Amino acid sequence: MNSIINDIEIIKSETTKINDVDFNNLAFGSVFSDHMLECNYKDEKWEAPKVVPYQSISLDPSAKIFHYGQSVFEGMKAYKDANEDVYLFRPLDNFKRLNISAKRLAMPELPENYFMDGLKALLEVDKDWIPKQDGSSLYIRPFIFASGSGFHASPANEYKFLICTAPSGSYFSGKVKVLIEQTYSRSANGGVGYAKAGGNYAGQFYPTQLAVEKGYQQVIWTDDTSHEYIEEAGAMNIFVRINDTLITAPTSDRILDGITRKSIVELAKAEGINVEVRKLSVHEVVDAAKNGTLKEMFGAGTAAVISPISGFGYKDEDFELPELEDTFASFLKKRITDIQTNKVEDPFGWRY
Ligand code: PMP
Repeated sequence: MNSIINDIEIIKSETTKINDVDFNNLAFGSVFSDHMLECNYKDEKWEAPKVVPYQSISLDPSAKIFHYGQSVFEGMKAYKDANEDVYLFRPLDNFKRLNISAKRLAMPELPENYFMDGLKALLEVDKDWIPKQDGSSLYIRPFIFASGSGFHASPANEYKFLICTAPSGSYFSGKVKVLIEQTYSRSANGGVGYAKAGGNYAGQFYPTQLAVEKGYQQVIWTDDTSHEYIEEAGAMNIFVRINDTLITAPTSDRILDGITRKSIVELAKAEGINVEVRKLSVHEVVDAAKNGTLKEMFGAGTAAVISPISGFGYKDEDFELPELEDTFASFLKKRITDIQTNKVEDPFGWRY
């Protein structure tokens, strides 16, 4: 990969918002750093990326993003260690997944150096926005959308790639109660479930609202044909611990190939935990809850890292999970965040 970092134009903001931010009290993704990366696709090629002040953008009302939803994104984090050195976690995997998503939505793929060097240039300019408080990080949102105009239902001929960042605390506080979905589906065979496409999230909001009205915080999606197999949550992959075995569903064209998920599988195996990547039926989980062998459930994703589940609802019945002293969830969360924040050796080569 030839570096383009020295060719990236940097237009600095004349003011900074950083003094208005309470870094000890950060919500998730609600204040944005001073700059963003901007890169435009026109005449069948990506133009050089630029770092510019974070600002509104202007689009034609017929831009295809508004009508046909050509939009894909990524979610990643930058961390600062005790020496103020900055680290990313497996960023090339985010880059590759962004292109996998873009391809599925008939959008142009990005060159690796535009993504990686663009990101580095942005983080260099907004370094002071990367929190050093434990549990906090700079959430990074790269995204591509169709800015080209026209009502014709076909791929746009112009796109924008932007990266915006937001200093963030944790995504969920405390444990979540989830509903195992039996009516709606997030994705289907041959669909776009494996892509991080904006529309996948829009389609989840209504069923999630219904679940929230019933007292749950999240939906656990099941397969679209039988609703019999556990797939993933709204923005997290799912792990279930039965006795001392950790189980997660295999990825497929319906499930996002989560970077946290695959890291946890590798890490847990390296720590001697028995891990099974296989289809997991709702009945197996319900039976395990009834006979006391269901020990833990948790979600895994960049935003929350690991989010323990306190209980689940299934067909009008509620099941509570036990309160354990030592959980796989807290052990694995500590291991992974210690690697991310350079507190321990990284035998996997994930830290960047
Ligand atoms: N599933 C979905 C649908 C998601 O949006 C996310 C968040 N990217 C995940 C799983 C977890 O993926 P990752 O660990 O790469 O953040």
